[in-house]
This record gives sequence, structure tokens and C-alpha cells, in this order.
Amino acid sequence: LLYNEVQDLKGTIRVYCRVRPFLQEKDMQSTVDYIGENGNIIINNPFKQEKDARKIFAFNKVFEQNVSQEQIYIDTQPVIRSVLDGFNVCIFAYGQTGSGKTYTMSGPDLMTESTWGVNYRALRDLFQLSNARTHVLLTLDIRNNSQLNGLNVPDASLIPVSNTRDVLDLMRIGQKNRAVGATALNERSSRSHSVLTVHVQGKELASGSILRGCLHLVDLAGSERVEKSEAVGERLKEAQHINKSLSALGDVIYALAQKSSHVPYRNSKLTQVLQDSLGGQAKTLMFVHINPEVNAVGETISTLKFAQRVA
Ligand code: ADP
Ligand code: MG
Repeated sequence: LLYNEVQDLKGTIRVYCRVRPFLQEKDMQSTVDYIGENGNIIINNPFKQEKDARKIFAFNKVFEQNVSQEQIYIDTQPVIRSVLDGFNVCIFAYGQTGSGKTYTMSGPDLMTESTWGVNYRALRDLFQLSNARTHVLLTLDIRNNSQLNGLNVPDASLIPVSNTRDVLDLMRIGQKNRAVGATALNERSSRSHSVLTVHVQGKELASGSILRGCLHLVDLAGSERVEKSEAVGERLKEAQHINKSLSALGDVIYALAQKSSHVPYRNSKLTQVLQDSLGGQAKTLMFVHINPEVNAVGETISTLKFAQRVA
């Protein structure tokens, strides 16, 4: 194994918090009061009495709003690279709609490499490393499924890829398939989980033994609680499914963090699909995203409470 430095991460769960920048130039009040080097973040809720307004949370790392995509990847890379040593890895993006999940995982613009998110950087990195080694085969498994929690079989395709170009072409096709107008796209992405899986298979030349690793890059559905009054019929059912699958994911990660003997994988399709890559020797990294605007403070606090439970 070449990446001994990440051995200590196996079986562990890391939680990183990323604060999204303000989207408008004008001065805005932020609910983020303080970010510490040690992974602490303090949120100030201006709607609360002074004595109850400040809440502190602690994570492995907190990234303030000006942190670059490159820096985010530098802190993700050791976990990603361990896939080539046969580990299974899950990387999740969690947060309310508009908090920056897709920005972290994919980036705002596929054509601009400097803004690439974790998934393109990870693939580029894995190709570069696997070219340096021999006999590593990557295959991609793209799932974009709005009913992971329903009964249908995930609509997935397994495609062998041999370089970053292949992957980009596939991603572009995938995006085109989803591009049904920005509003509809945003609507759909806030109500569905998107799972990109990379299977890596390598052969150790000396022993001839086969190493298999699996990387899941998961852009989760928006975590916002849907008011009962706002949603009816299918929309309400869908919202309940999303809330159920996100809380089932939280329960699984919590059980793993507690080293509990019972891990409730079977409570959602999402956790069933990812079962082999959660727990055991696998590594989990969750990015929780927050929007620093005052009107988002309720969701910000519930997002951080969710993340604190699994951290
Ligand atoms: P989500 O996927 O959680 O709904 P997005 O990733 O689509 O949220 O982000 C919402 C908006 O904020 C987008 O316009 C996105 O480009 C912008 N954004 C999010 N995070 C950042 C960031 N770190 N830097 C600059 N812009 C960001
Ligand atoms: Mg999104």
C-alpha cells in the first residue's frame, strides 16, 4: 500500500463544514460569527434573545467562504486516493437547496478547470495515478435517480473509461440529459440524490492478486424541511421520502460513529445501495454546506445539528 498516511482514516467518519459565499455584492449580515482553526464554528441567530443566540459546533474542519475548489480538493485527496489501495469510499454533500452542494461536488462550470469540483478533480487524479501504476481499470457507474427510496431499480449505466476526456464526455451527456431548463433542473436536483460511482480494479504485478476499490460521490437531495402546508399529494410524498432517506443516512452514520453492533442499513434504498461502502474498512467524508444568510438561519442550525450528531 502506497498511501500509509491515510491508514488511520479507515473505518472513520470525517465531517467538513463549508460556508457558501454571499451571492450578491452588497453588504450582508452573516449568521457565521466565528470560525476556528480547530474546526469550530459559531452561529449567531439574530431572531433569538441574546443569551440563546450563539451556538457552537465542532467538526474535523470548517472552510470559510473564500476557500478555493483547489483547497477543498487538497483536503479530500488522501481519502480519494485510498480507493487505489482497495478501500471503499463515500463522499457526501449535505445541506439545504442553494447552500453549495453541487458547487462542491461538480463546480459551477464543467468547461472551466479551475472551478472544477471534487468529482472531476478526483477522476483526473485517479487517472494520473493509475497511469503511473499499471493494470488499473476504471469504470463509471452513473446514477441519477429521483426515486432512490421508491421501489424502482436504479436507472444506472456501467461504462468503462480510459481517461479524463471520456469521463468529461460522459458527464456532458449526463448534464444534457438532465438539462430541462434551469428551474426544472434545480427543482429536480433538490428532490433527488445523485450518485456517481467509480469502480477501480487493479492487479498487483508481483502477486497477481486483484485489488478492488469503489468511490461513491453523492450529491444529496436538499435537506430542507418541507412545510406540510406547502406540499400536497405527490410533492408531499416525495418530500417525506427525502426526509426519510436523509434521516436513515444520518442514523447509519451515527451507528457507525458509535461503533454500534446494529447498523440500520435497510431503512432506505440509499443506505442499501451504499452499504458495502459505509462502515467496516470503508471511509466516509461528509461535506455539510451552509448558506450564511440571515433568512436561512433555521435550516443552517438544523443542518449543523444533523452533522454534529454524526461527527
Ligand atoms: P445546491 O446544490 O446545494 O442547491 P449550488 O451548488 O447549486 O447549491 O449553489 C447555489 C448557488 O451558489 C450557485 O449559483 C453556485 O454557483 C453558488 N455557490 C455555491 N457555493 C459557492 C462557492 N463556494 N463559491 C461561489 N459560488 C458558490
Ligand atoms: Mg444542487
